[in-house]
Amino acid sequence: MVADEPGMTVARVVPGVAALGELWERVRRKLRAELGEDVVASWFGSLELAGIEGGVAQLSVPTRFLKSWIDTHYADRLRKHFAIDGNAARVEVSVRGAMPARVPVARLNARPNENKAPCEIASPTYLRVEPRLASDTALRQEKKQEAHMPLSTAAALDRQLTFDNFVVGRSNQFACAAARKVAETIGGQAVYNPLYIHAAVGLGKTHLSQAMAHACESEGKRVLYLTADRFMHQFVSALRSQTAIQFKDQMRNIDLLIVDDVQFLQGKTVQQEFCHIINALADSRRQMVVAADRPPADLEGLDERIKSRLAGGLCVEIGAFDEELRRRILERRITAARERDPSFKVPDAVIDFVASAITSNGRDLDGAVNRLLAHVSFAGAHVTVESAETAIRDLIRAREPKRVRVEEILKLVSAHYNVTRADLLSSRRTASVVRPRQIAMYLSKTLTLRSLPEIGRRFGGRDHTTVLHAVRKIEGLIGENQALKDEVGLLKRMLTD
Ligand code: ADP
Ligand code: MG
Repeated sequence: MVADEPGMTVARVVPGVAALGELWERVRRKLRAELGEDVVASWFGSLELAGIEGGVAQLSVPTRFLKSWIDTHYADRLRKHFAIDGNAARVEVSVRGAMPARVPVARLNARPNENKAPCEIASPTYLRVEPRLASDTALRQEKKQEAHMPLSTAAALDRQLTFDNFVVGRSNQFACAAARKVAETIGGQAVYNPLYIHAAVGLGKTHLSQAMAHACESEGKRVLYLTADRFMHQFVSALRSQTAIQFKDQMRNIDLLIVDDVQFLQGKTVQQEFCHIINALADSRRQMVVAADRPPADLEGLDERIKSRLAGGLCVEIGAFDEELRRRILERRITAARERDPSFKVPDAVIDFVASAITSNGRDLDGAVNRLLAHVSFAGAHVTVESAETAIRDLIRAREPKRVRVEEILKLVSAHYNVTRADLLSSRRTASVVRPRQIAMYLSKTLTLRSLPEIGRRFGGRDHTTVLHAVRKIEGLIGENQALKDEVGLLKRMLTD
């Protein structure tokens, strides 16, 4: 039992503190390796492991928002790491202050030997402490530092992302026209408010958003460009350092607020604050621009009021680039690169090849140009279609759908329909086996490069006409039965994602 009466010092003995400190060290190394230093510092910096109790790893964070963010985004990952070697089957994140003050066993951003301090105090996991202990002093110190940090420093703008550098084509002309119109009218009557831009990754949302920011700044307007996670992070810091009012004032004191990647906006408090800010801006007729990877209605976990607010202005989509647009973006990039390095020459045939091979998005087009540049500067060679193909091979290959093996299909189908692999390969003709078997054959035909006879052999030595029959059968059923279509679609996604 944890000692609950105030003033009591010692609680209970579970795994030694030293062992816990080591475990925590291991978990955080894994997190760093998987998520990178930045993510870990942003979201886990203040996460503390208080102890392990009844198979539950007790973690704590300073705010409710951080709790809900970690719960929704990282709970599974944390659980997985704590489960290794049977350390803890569950993970519980609580808000500090909402639970008795404890000496944290370990802190994610503490240096390894800092973890030793509590170990030397005593062996029990939990210690009840008076609020003047070291951890509190540290917290106050931290608050002080945060108070000195500039609030809502906008994310740095990229000088290249201007309207001049934005190539307009069929799929983005409407979005571009709307963005230009908005940029022109800042400071006057907002026409489309908010302007909501959505598109898949790499199609120019950030480019257009920042182009608006540049245009407004050059007119002497006050612009704040933030990504949603920056918005959240700053709001959370402001709450912790008790400067939230300042933060809000600052938000309201601008001509144009741009929030990029708003699909990442999470957490009730943050969303509420976001909603207040949108409303305040709208009421004072100041402009707001929002970019996301999906339309407002599809923003999961976002409050309905915010969704309808976001959808209430002008909503524009940027569609996939057609080949002509890809070609023109490439040409623009190559011209820019040639200004820096006049020896960089790319024949038209190569541009045609790259524009037809890289069908994904602007980011990969950038990647392709960089590889061609590297090729020229390292090999000193002219770019030919052949050398271009080698240089950008990884970009093309990365986009090819994942190869699926018949074995994986058998495994998934048998698990999904609860029949054994042996049943699928057997000659049993009961309905509960026949349909899954046909689906497995259909998936093998559509997801692998195997021929009908090969698939037949993999399914217990069947004839290729049997496989063909199964494929046709499932195709036919999918055409008339939506539920089956969804089910097979789901299986396909599970195999290819
Ligand atoms: P998103 O924010 O939608 O993921 P970005 O705006 O970051 O995409 O665009 C990815 C890359 O493609 C950037 O380098 C950007 O400059 C470039 N890009 C996208 N659209 C265009 C365009 N229409 N003209 C020129 N470059 C573009
Ligand atoms: Mg972006």
